[in-house]
Amino acid sequence: MSVVTDAMAEARSLDLFKPHGAFEVHCSNCHTRLDPMGDCPNCGLIGRPEAEIARRLQGDPAGTEKLLRGAIAKRRAYSAG
Ligand SMILES: [Zn+2]
Repeated sequence: MSVVTDAMAEARSLDLFKPHGAFEVHCSNCHTRLDPMGDCPNCGLIGRPEAEIARRLQGDPAGTEKLLRGAIAKRRAYSAG
């Protein structure tokens, strides 16, 4: 398994993929205002479907891994706090 596949699996296990509705501006988990990409800067929730992230991974593996790692780190910090 690649490093990035591990990151996807970890994000999935943390339940980070929670697609929001088109006009949703607040996190469904912690109610923080979402960033322009629809991701939560507080708890690390990724407001996009896993399939979309997997597609993005094909074109931009480094950037997507960074996104996943960032989201995982935020969720860990959030859970700990
Ligand atoms: Zn949140």
